[in-house]
Amino acid sequence: MALRFYNTLPGKVEEFHPLENNQVRMYACGPTVYDYGHIGNFRTFVAIDILCRFLRQSGYKVRYVMNITDVDDKIIRNSARDGVSVKQYTEKYEKAFLEDSATLNIEQPTLVRATDHIPEMAEFVVALEKKGFAYRAEDGSYYFRIAKFPGYGKLSKKDFAGMEDGARVDLDEYDKDSARDFALWKAPKPGEAFWETPIGRGRPGWHIECSVMSMEELGETFDLHAGGEDLIFPHHENEIAQSEALTGKPFAHFWFHARFLLVEGEKMSKSLGNFLTLRDLVLKGYKPSSIRLLLASVPYRHQLNFTFDGLKQMASNVDKLRNFQLRLTAAQLPAGVNGEIQQLANEAVEKMRSALEDDLNTAQAQAAILDMVRKANAALDNGLIKKDDVPPLLAALERFDDIFAVLKDDDAPKMKAILDWAKAHDRQKDISQGLLDAVGSQSVSDVEIENKVAAMEAARRARNFQLSDAVRAELTSAGLIIEQTKDGIRWRRK
Ligand code: AMP
Ligand code: ZN
Repeated sequence: MALRFYNTLPGKVEEFHPLENNQVRMYACGPTVYDYGHIGNFRTFVAIDILCRFLRQSGYKVRYVMNITDVDDKIIRNSARDGVSVKQYTEKYEKAFLEDSATLNIEQPTLVRATDHIPEMAEFVVALEKKGFAYRAEDGSYYFRIAKFPGYGKLSKKDFAGMEDGARVDLDEYDKDSARDFALWKAPKPGEAFWETPIGRGRPGWHIECSVMSMEELGETFDLHAGGEDLIFPHHENEIAQSEALTGKPFAHFWFHARFLLVEGEKMSKSLGNFLTLRDLVLKGYKPSSIRLLLASVPYRHQLNFTFDGLKQMASNVDKLRNFQLRLTAAQLPAGVNGEIQQLANEAVEKMRSALEDDLNTAQAQAAILDMVRKANAALDNGLIKKDDVPPLLAALERFDDIFAVLKDDDAPKMKAILDWAKAHDRQKDISQGLLDAVGSQSVSDVEIENKVAAMEAARRARNFQLSDAVRAELTSAGLIIEQTKDGIRWRRK
């Protein structure tokens, strides 16, 4: 079976095949680096990361390029407000984006920056003007003449018949119903930053950067173009118009759009003020692995409503998976093999594959691995797992983790980095006890804990309760949970 997913261009689920053999060329619209990214943004980037990882797991080579929008209306406005250059303004947020992406185990694509490609954008405008698709306005700005491109509206399925020829819009983001000639190049208003180019002073419009950089990196026609659903119109519609007008060839074959993350039924966005950044959640004590699993818990085309309960559920799922992996690695098992367990592992792998091939059904893939873990834990309890059953079970977990990337327990150092960032950025008041506990507990190694637990038990046996209580207090204040069970003392990290 081939991978099938929803292609916004024809508006249906289609089989995916690359244009060239085994090589996939894909482009995603990256962040506009004018602020910290919110977890809605990261829902989209995690969805695209999962697409890319699954393509690789399916045997394709993937060349994945993402742009960083480091110039647009908001950036120009905010940098002028703060009295700094565009570069000074965006540097900090670009760095934060890369750090946050790494915190969420998003594999880094090849990154391209808009401001590194200004001359090529000016050339693109000249080429469009020569073909009659672009025209210059009185103030030196250039616009794309949409009436000349009959396919305009084919991605967003909007009918622009009867649109007003020559009406213009010069905003980067505009109303969903605006069928207007859009700005390719903007002449500077007094006091605004600009670049000096053969078509005059100015800066590129938002849409042109993606046409120029994607074609430069991936060729005039490539396999896949991705982003959040809000980009369908105008951004991607305009990218298609500019690119196909220039080359006369199809631009991207597959258009992949992730549905918006909601909070209490409303879309999460900066303008509504209902957004949470990754850092906000970590400061509250939530682990990056739980956040990543949550963002991928619902298939990318379905609505995901963010709730703290959902996040807690994901934390418990991550624990289940990690604990099972530890248990399996540490277990002393009898030699031999149990055919049923082998089958359980194979079925889990098969279910994950078919779920992901079916329009990236991440919910079903997660359910398949959790089901395997539940059944295998019960089998371990009942002594039904043999030594040779371990490799296929571990391999199923690894296959899951190639895509979901939550099993490696590296949350604590990432959380520590965010804790340090908060201290350095005057956000002390937002640091929760949960975060301090999570970071604190990881500062003690497993061996140190085992030693202390042994000391605690020895003190108890010697009826030195003062000492055993003191050791227990030391361990709990480092954020560990200590439980007395019938088999002795058990500990775990929060
Ligand atoms: P921006 O930085 O605003 O250009 O957005 C970066 C990416 O995040 C784009 O692909 C957007 O479509 C996407 N995005 C923005 N808000 C959300 C949201 N609430 N849910 C999912 N994706 C979003
Ligand atoms: Zn773009």
